[in-house]
Amino acid sequence: MPDVRNWQLGRSMTYPYPEHHPDWQFAFVFNINRCIACQTCSMACKSTWTFSKGQEAMWWNNVETKPYGGYPHHWDVQLLELLDGAHEAAGIDPTWGAAAAGAEAPYGSYDGMTIFEAAAREQPQTQQALGYLPADEEWRAPNIFEDVGPAGRPAPGSLGLEAAGAELPEHKAYFFYLQRLCNHCTYPACLAACPRKAIYKRPEDGVVLIDQSRCRGYRKCVEACPYKKSMYRPSTRVSEKCVACYPRLEGADPLSDGVPMETRCMAACPGRIRLQGLVPIDPDGTWADDRQNPINFLVRHEKVALPLYPQFGTEPNGFYIPPRWAPRPYLRQMFGPGVDEAIARYRAPSRELLAVLQLFRASETVIFRYEIEEGPKVFENEIDGKPWAMYDDTVIGFDKIGREVVRLSVEEPVHQRSAPHPNSI
Ligand code: SF4
Ligand code: SF4
Ligand code: SF4
Repeated sequence: MPDVRNWQLGRSMTYPYPEHHPDWQFAFVFNINRCIACQTCSMACKSTWTFSKGQEAMWWNNVETKPYGGYPHHWDVQLLELLDGAHEAAGIDPTWGAAAAGAEAPYGSYDGMTIFEAAAREQPQTQQALGYLPADEEWRAPNIFEDVGPAGRPAPGSLGLEAAGAELPEHKAYFFYLQRLCNHCTYPACLAACPRKAIYKRPEDGVVLIDQSRCRGYRKCVEACPYKKSMYRPSTRVSEKCVACYPRLEGADPLSDGVPMETRCMAACPGRIRLQGLVPIDPDGTWADDRQNPINFLVRHEKVALPLYPQFGTEPNGFYIPPRWAPRPYLRQMFGPGVDEAIARYRAPSRELLAVLQLFRASETVIFRYEIEEGPKVFENEIDGKPWAMYDDTVIGFDKIGREVVRLSVEEPVHQRSAPHPNSI
């Protein structure tokens, strides 16, 4: 199998196809700390793409409550157990070794096996990627265990928690919401597994699509996708998945004015937790050093947003600002070793980060570049024993062709109504 470079693992890995990268990559950052689990995103997707007969179980976007919730049920625990079993059989104790080494290995390097490498060790090899096919009942109840956290002190070793439990500033009783859609992975397991070659990654924006006319419903993609975001629809007998709202991304939607527009699930989010964009990709697959691109800034420069289960090896292009209150061991197995640094940076945001965080859900137009106009210092304090100051800077977002689409200050402006009309609009 060819070797490909996976920057999230800080090393090369094997993948069934040679490296080939798009010019731009669809990517998004979700701030878990702000999600209220209103499911507006899930309904925005469903009312746009998956509302017809037979699509009851097609939740291309879903929001689940961790640690117990999941759609399909316990998808991540089941795959982590499979991967654990593969490591035990191979006598490997997987770790993230070596310190972070710049853009090449921002989280150090992972010396365990990916789902592709674990599958390749099996002789005879029966899968392209280690995976499983969920049973029908696991696709029912998309929001099972909503708002349920571990009751009392968790059993030692369970769910990745340390026997000693967690101490403040983390909470012993906790839960958080995980917002999920297809990650439009750099090395998609769904694509690798499809015997019909019905799945492809678009060269212009890295969006991963299933050609419905080629699909024969073998469900190899459902088995292989570690995030379980390729879904089989019994009424049509083919698989389907998130299409990244590609007409909006292409600027073909009547509302888009010819430039890329955020997808439905992103644009609908009232919690303002979502920022979606396109990042420029160099021919060798590295992200072009474009600091003024907000997604690039959050992921590669500030390192405040992390990939979901990077150890699976698909190089997902969805990134998460981890929740501050959840136990760190649980978060590290979910987002890798960058968790502590990401939370520290979010707790005491730099001046630039605080300005860029204002861009979340500020515009339906995809923001390709931002600029910051400096404002006065409005507040100062100590965070974790260190001085911290807040400035009322203004952040300006620009669309693909350089037009200003949004202008926001860090402090929200206050509008006072005149005394004769205190309750009028
Ligand atoms: S719409 Fe936004 S706040 Fe509501 S559940 Fe979805 S991601 Fe969370
Ligand atoms: S998340 Fe799953 S369905 Fe989406 S590209 Fe990655 S492997 Fe394929
Ligand atoms: S990007 Fe579009 S198709 Fe994909 S989950 Fe969001 S709304 Fe659905």
